[in-house]
Amino acid sequence: MLHKDNPDYRGDQNDPFGEDFFLLPSEEEIRARAEQILGDNRDYLRFYVEQAIWYAQDNPDLVKVMLSLLWLWEAIDPKWLAEASFMTVSDVRNLTESQPVMTFNCLDCGTELADKSRLQGIGMQHSLEDYCGDKTKNTPPVNLLCGPCHQQRKDNAEQQADLDRQRHQALLAEYRGRPYEDRRQWVCPVSTDSLPLGHSTSSQSNLFVL
Ligand SMILES: [Zn+2]
Repeated sequence: MLHKDNPDYRGDQNDPFGEDFFLLPSEEEIRARAEQILGDNRDYLRFYVEQAIWYAQDNPDLVKVMLSLLWLWEAIDPKWLAEASFMTVSDVRNLTESQPVMTFNCLDCGTELADKSRLQGIGMQHSLEDYCGDKTKNTPPVNLLCGPCHQQRKDNAEQQADLDRQRHQALLAEYRGRPYEDRRQWVCPVSTDSLPLGHSTSSQSNLFVL
């Protein structure tokens, strides 16, 4: 609780006619509050996780289902699951891997993306949701490609960049081979912009008249 001498004391902050007026708390104070809320919420979350697993103790199948589901909740520490179910973290991991709730396949070749950690699995699900939710994204997320397909895409991009460079150089070479008079009004074959070359002294023109 804040003391009334504290500038953040809520006493008159909502009274527009009061003598006090609301001051923004300092950055340190805001960070301390955020950490307090985060810590409290974690404690509550842990309490509910433990309760849920304890109540299910008489039904081992239900415990397994709950562990598999709770394993995918990023804010839940796997240690809480292990302690509440009297298992080790690796036991819980083995159990959840034996009955995975979600599976992921490479978007290029379809190979199953296996042997991923819990957080990598959660990250792949986020990427999948982002990718499917944003139709403007043309490139699939890297974490939804297998290693060879990712490498293949990188190689293709490099090859394409190389070809673009060569094409640009060939166009320039061809242009430079033309008589000077022809070069005075040159239509760029890439952008189809007409470049005013002539006797201009601008740096852009010099590039092409050299
Ligand atoms: Zn692949």
